[in-house]
Amino acid sequence: MMERRNWIAGRQVDGVRLEANCNPARPAEVVGHYAWASVAQAQEALDAAREALPAWAVSNPQTRSDILRRAGDELNARAEELGALLTREEGKTLREGIGEIRRSAQIFHYAAGEPLRQGGEALPGLRDGTTAMVSREPVGVVALITPWNFPMAVPAWKAAYALAFGNTVVLKPSEVTPACAWELADILHRAGLPAGAFNLVNGDGRTLGPVLVDGADAVSFTGSPGVGRTILERSVARMTRVQLELGGKNPLVVLDDADLDLAVEVALQGAFYSTGQRCTATSRIIVDRRVHDAFVERLVAKMSALRVGDPLEAATDIGPVVSEPQLAKDLHYVTVARDEGAELAFGGGRLDRDGYFLEPTLFVGTSNTMRINRDEVFGPVACVIPADGLDHAISIANDSEHALSSGVVTRGLAAAETFRRRSRAGLVMVNAPTAGIDYHVPFGGRGPSGYGGREQGSAAVEFFTEGKTTYINHGITG
Ligand code: NAD
Repeated sequence: MMERRNWIAGRQVDGVRLEANCNPARPAEVVGHYAWASVAQAQEALDAAREALPAWAVSNPQTRSDILRRAGDELNARAEELGALLTREEGKTLREGIGEIRRSAQIFHYAAGEPLRQGGEALPGLRDGTTAMVSREPVGVVALITPWNFPMAVPAWKAAYALAFGNTVVLKPSEVTPACAWELADILHRAGLPAGAFNLVNGDGRTLGPVLVDGADAVSFTGSPGVGRTILERSVARMTRVQLELGGKNPLVVLDDADLDLAVEVALQGAFYSTGQRCTATSRIIVDRRVHDAFVERLVAKMSALRVGDPLEAATDIGPVVSEPQLAKDLHYVTVARDEGAELAFGGGRLDRDGYFLEPTLFVGTSNTMRINRDEVFGPVACVIPADGLDHAISIANDSEHALSSGVVTRGLAAAETFRRRSRAGLVMVNAPTAGIDYHVPFGGRGPSGYGGREQGSAAVEFFTEGKTTYINHGITG
């Protein structure tokens, strides 16, 4: 049986115990055993990152670029194999798993350009004979704490930029999905990363997380709002730079002039693909009353054609929920919705087979004040909320504790632009699903959905570097 260790200072290190990583489609199938690190080992990983920092921070930009490019090349070359591994540990379909590996390769290739692009500014000083220079430096040792739903892409989009800008890293992936993170560490080491520049510790977030937060110069976290808040409080107390990407309760507005076939496709993909386990998944479908019944009828017809099953099979559209506790949470919310008076239009039940399978589930006749429309479920569960026109739909969309992604389906340019301007969300999609993002533009939510700056694209440099302004009195005035 495959056993995988932690990575500390360029070496693979045993942990305090081995934990089985199981396939949610076939829970008896063990993907591998993964060593969980002790608190002392988390500290050792921080120490290793600190020791590697001075050399990596000033390393040749071409060296950093080459290593990141090689990591991307290997991810691409092994996309099918690693995609299958991702599917076996997380449960999304093989098509989605391979897509996530390819996306991670693209992220590394894009980030490989960053060390070469990094520049600064030189301005004439306001005192005669002086120049003011603005430059950027790495922040230092960065702790990356990641969730299970994108087990390769989230570690990739944090690590690639952190390393590109000369930081050293300690990654703690989700307990539920350690396999992809281990492969990423292995790939980065073989790509030529010096010992200690990237360290991996697996294990319980509640015990390892605080050690990492206390010992790092910056923390980049993606996960649930509750954990994010504890990390924020801890980081603020130490004045540590922190970035949080948190939950969503993402609205999709369908206006009465929408192409209904497009609206149904956009809702279907956004709400149920990847088993609804995306922070950007559509969970509130706000539909103009004038097209409500026609929309619901077509959506239910499409949902009944979705094939829920073994994610390794090519015909499968929806794989299992990631774990037994997550399935229990999803089913709990199905009960909550029914108890609140929501009407079940489709699904709602666990499949009668091995594995954590839930039917894609749609409720109608819901209101935005119901708990099912306030709390993040993080499963294949969506609700339809009727609305009376654009203004009403926007006010419902914005009435949420979350502000990550939002969408509108309309043929009207003015309506689309009005929605774009007035939506509170950090991401706005016009005639496109709320989930599904590009890697070369900033990503993130507002308010309780995100804190501390955006990730990816042109935004990454802001978080992973510190600014420095230098005044030089060279005395030359001519
Ligand atoms: P989670 O918060 O339970 O865990 C995330 C990570 O935090 C894990 O590695 C976990 O071990 C660690 N952790 C747990 N307790 C900790 C503590 N006290 N201190 C430090 N670290 C701790 O989240 P999850 O269940 O893995 O992921 C699902 C959540 O992630 C959802 O809320 C989803 O919306 C969110 N998410 C957000 C984005 C985004 O970019 N906005 C992307 C993906 C997922």
